[in-house]
Amino acid sequence: MTRLTRLMVVAALVVRASAATAQVAPDVETVVPAPVPHVRGGDARAVTILTEATVLSSTIARLRADLQQSDVIVTVITGRLADGIDGLARLVAAAGGVRHVRVTLKIPNSTTGLIATLGHELCHATEIAGMPDVRNEASLAAAYRRVGVAMRGEGFFETDAAVRTGEQVAREIARAPRTVAAR
Ligand SMILES: [Zn+2]
Repeated sequence: MTRLTRLMVVAALVVRASAATAQVAPDVETVVPAPVPHVRGGDARAVTILTEATVLSSTIARLRADLQQSDVIVTVITGRLADGIDGLARLVAAAGGVRHVRVTLKIPNSTTGLIATLGHELCHATEIAGMPDVRNEASLAAAYRRVGVAMRGEGFFETDAAVRTGEQVAREIARAPRTVAAR
């Protein structure tokens, strides 16, 4: 059994144990709905990558925890992107006190590459979370003209923080168990 599998089994057992406790001492008035996850996978591959990334990278676990406390909800999908682009974060909607960011991870890519790109793009999501005035593509572009560097022409921006975060996540994955990192 790989280390990842063991960790996931432990996590599943913990969840089951708390569910059992809740059944032993039911208290309807204190039951609160489970919080909406602020980072979620939009397709099967993205769900798998998110699970592995959160176990293997403390940076990604921290970014997810930060986003959970924000008004930004990130949906991660995998898909085709232009040459030279491994990932993309877009603000797709802002309504009802919530801003929706869609992160696309380019496939095909290695698991390591996908997870590092995820870290990079989740950094952008936290940047957006920290800029409450960003409500649409125009205000997003205006904000990134201040904090980022224009890339590849109109509408594409990069930040040092996101580049560094992707590199940090790649180092964390390189230290992870070979069975996972080698894929
Ligand atoms: Zn970027």
